[in-house]
Amino acid sequence: MSMRIALAGNPNSGKTTLFNVLTGSNQYVGNWPGVTVEKKEGKLKKNDEIIVTDLPGIYSLSPFTPEEVVARNYLVGERPDAILNIVDGTNLERNLYLTTQLAELGIPMVIAINMMDVVRKNGDNINTDELAKALGCRVVEISALKGDGIIEAADAAIEAAKAGQLTHRHIFSGAVEHAIAHLEEAAVHGLPEEQQRWYAVKLFERDEKVIEQLNLPQTLLEHIEVDIADVESEKDDDAVSIIINERYDYITALMGRCYKKKNPGRLSVSDKIDLVVTNRILALPIFAVVMWLVYTLSIGTVGDWTVGFMNDTLFGEWIIPWVTGMLEQIGCAEWLVSLIADGIIGGVGAVLGFVPQMLILFLLLSLLEDCGYMSRVAFVMDRLFRKFGLSGKSFIPMLVATGCGVPGIMASRTIESERDRKITVMTTGFMVCGAKTPIVGLIAAALFDGGAWVATLAYFVGIAAVVVSGIILKKFKAFAGKPAPFVMELPAYHAPIPANVLRTTWERGWSFIKRAGTVIVAAGILIWVLNSLSFEGGFHYITEEVGGASILEVLGSVIAFLFVPLGFGRWQAAVATVLGLVAKEEVVGSFGALSSMADADWAMGAVESMDSSLSIIGQEFFGGSKLSAFSFMIFNLLCAPCFAAVGAIRREMNSAKWTWAAIGWMTGFAYAISIIVYQFGVLFTGGFTLWLIPAAAVLIGLLYLLFRKNKYELK
Ligand code: GDP
Ligand code: MG
Repeated sequence: MSMRIALAGNPNSGKTTLFNVLTGSNQYVGNWPGVTVEKKEGKLKKNDEIIVTDLPGIYSLSPFTPEEVVARNYLVGERPDAILNIVDGTNLERNLYLTTQLAELGIPMVIAINMMDVVRKNGDNINTDELAKALGCRVVEISALKGDGIIEAADAAIEAAKAGQLTHRHIFSGAVEHAIAHLEEAAVHGLPEEQQRWYAVKLFERDEKVIEQLNLPQTLLEHIEVDIADVESEKDDDAVSIIINERYDYITALMGRCYKKKNPGRLSVSDKIDLVVTNRILALPIFAVVMWLVYTLSIGTVGDWTVGFMNDTLFGEWIIPWVTGMLEQIGCAEWLVSLIADGIIGGVGAVLGFVPQMLILFLLLSLLEDCGYMSRVAFVMDRLFRKFGLSGKSFIPMLVATGCGVPGIMASRTIESERDRKITVMTTGFMVCGAKTPIVGLIAAALFDGGAWVATLAYFVGIAAVVVSGIILKKFKAFAGKPAPFVMELPAYHAPIPANVLRTTWERGWSFIKRAGTVIVAAGILIWVLNSLSFEGGFHYITEEVGGASILEVLGSVIAFLFVPLGFGRWQAAVATVLGLVAKEEVVGSFGALSSMADADWAMGAVESMDSSLSIIGQEFFGGSKLSAFSFMIFNLLCAPCFAAVGAIRREMNSAKWTWAAIGWMTGFAYAISIIVYQFGVLFTGGFTLWLIPAAAVLIGLLYLLFRKNKYELK
């Protein structure tokens, strides 16, 4: 007999951790709400008749955000055979609020109190017998992380489903119960009996979706309205608040009976760490230092060893000469040798050269995430963001986007306010994602002696771009509105779980490698073709004897003028920028394919004793100018994201107009910042071009938009 068990609970209560243990699958476990934005299904490891569903975290069954709708629709519409309600034992009171609502659904339920390892360590005590008696269902203590009690919890859920035993519903005050009884009688008696209670309570709350779904006649609705209004005037409060308050009163009483804190008021180790880490003054400097360490270790130290080795030795001295030699031996045509060696291996190699530092970077980021530090950062950022009238929830998509922008943009679904969600979708792409990291790594290695500060700066430029854009956009009518408050449970710090950390690192690293094998190969071939053919003096293949400007050079030169004000008006840089729209790795890929170091002749040893390939790139693409390279980096980090991210924007916005608005905003913003950086950079280093005048105008415009009064501010 097949059976469906749904894991339901607040965000961050450990549902996905439990899901992974129960089903043996490898879902991403994040330390913040919104990681599971869609439901996931898996089969129970020891019994594949039992299907377990991991739902997005919810605080209530009155959904505000799209992912809460997913959870509610599943529970109400598809009605699993049993609910396994995961409750965070360290936040029992808040979690039980959802429990009282789940109990009304008329679906057999088992409560799993999770994080018991932490609860026990704090010396606290939960009286599960008392809870079970009050709620009328089994209560099991578990630790999803340590694997304690999980089999018992799953078995209990299976038994509950088989027995079909329902939980006690919470009894509201007399007046409310009276009205609910009326509603049940008048409006929902046609439904199966066990479902009537939930629908009646929702009708009492005037839940729009339920009213719509039941499709009640107008006269009946008016009749119901009288009942509700009666209670409201009696209690002098609105229906929704009455229900909320009564639920909380009930929970508070229950907590008094069931929860014994060992040392009320004493701080746990986790709390003590938080006093420092989330301190108002210290929090941001600590975050900056942490990120600097991350980039020093990954891009700086490891990058120093690996990027040079991968590019110069592995590909430059070993692979390319070896492949070239072999192809020539078997008598390959010269053009084919060049295509394989320069186009494909050159491009792919340049990207793969960054894999080691990428893996270290991802590893460090997932360590920070898994132990709980990144949730603290989100908490700190919330405080900062709200000061500027932005939603603190925007920071979670930004954190996710440091892996890849696509899930980052998707994570914006957790934001209730549609306007704030739009802003977040429009700006999350500014963050330095995995694919952009090689750009930073390359520029840092080629022109800044591998300085980790370049990478740290790039990271914070991304954050600053989001904040500045947010402030500017908030002052336009289309985005005005008060930011929604952001509540988030901070799970206690714990030692990182190797399996979790390695999984995330590998997933991110692997998708990077996969793209190098697909998109970058395709782009490498395209670049090679366009760069090997010329129209000059008749269409021909470029050889040493018959030269001429390649098609790519001609096309690149046509658009290069656009980037002259930004300081990188060379055709190679223009081509790299445009190709970056396909995939950001392709910026570095085209560096590899276009620079003369990718010339098979050089690799064959014909041109000897060159500098390292990286400094050649610095020369060819930027004329050796640090400022020019820096401006190039800023522009490529901030301008329109790759196709995949644009696709994600399109899905989340669900509108072509808004998608274009997002692309336009990002590209315009990138252009503005780059022109300011470059032209003022030139000025401060003792130079001057006429482009300084428009750059100054842009700067003034930006400052005006940033500091003008907000006409739509809500008090
Ligand atoms: P979800 O949002 O409900 O899916 O929660 P996750 O499964 O993503 O877990 C949130 C965080 O809580 C992660 O950092 C987990 O490692 C941590 N966590 C989950 N279960 C436990 C547990 O039993 N004990 C402790 N200490 N941490 C846990
Ligand atoms: Mg989850």
